[in-house]
Amino acid sequence: MDDKSMLEVYPNPIILQSEGLLKYILETSVYPREAETLKELRNATTKHPLGFMGASPDVGQLMALLLKLLNAKKTIEVGVFTGYSLLLTALNIPRDGKITAIDPDRKSYEMGLPFIKKAGVLHKIEYIESLALPVLDKLLQDPANEGTFDFAFVDADKNNYLNYHERLIKLVKIGGIVAYDNTLWGGTVALPEMAVSKPKRDWRRCALDFNKAISKDSHLEIALVSIGDGLTICRRVC
Ligand code: SAH
Ligand code: CA
Repeated sequence: MDDKSMLEVYPNPIILQSEGLLKYILETSVYPREAETLKELRNATTKHPLGFMGASPDVGQLMALLLKLLNAKKTIEVGVFTGYSLLLTALNIPRDGKITAIDPDRKSYEMGLPFIKKAGVLHKIEYIESLALPVLDKLLQDPANEGTFDFAFVDADKNNYLNYHERLIKLVKIGGIVAYDNTLWGGTVALPEMAVSKPKRDWRRCALDFNKAISKDSHLEIALVSIGDGLTICRRVC
């Protein structure tokens, strides 16, 4: 199948409202350097009825850079879907690196699995078919897991982001990063509630509460990056 630009498939799903500029960024800097297996996974995901949920490739490129800067070896992912960010992570950690990947939707994970296998990185992945909170709680029951993860990526149910944060910030090491996707929620965080369609209001509220709480947290260094649908990068400092 031909490589399809994200913009052809999902018109303007992103914060950057200039389609021309996003197209320029993707075509100049992202698509030419995107691993072939990632491209194939991304194209296959367009056939999924919820294909728009896949991580933006430009966000992926930034994550790859973060993983490399951190020398990340042990990571955790909450919200796998068909596995774009999972494969991206697997490709950017060393051979003996490990990802704990949590999502109750095994069917979507299995849709991306052939590309993960083709890339030769399946051995780095422990997929756990479950809601994330009980898994994180279980990890924390063993104090030996505290402060051992280099990197965590959260891209799941937005109403639980603060619950995930409470747990992940104990699981990542000092100097480690937790990144949260969709924190600008389609730009609705900057709109009055009445201007936002009803189905988007609850998660808009969650994004507002999350962004406020994170901004007040003195244990973190943060950047709320206007890429994709908004990516909040948190570095644990103490
Ligand atoms: N990171 C993915 C996109 C994730 S979409 C990518 O790069 O393509 C959001 C995912 O969160 C969905 O697959 C959904 O099943 C999952 N999800 C929703 N609620 C969850 C929960 N409580 N725990 C873990 N995953 C959850
Ligand atoms: Ca997302």
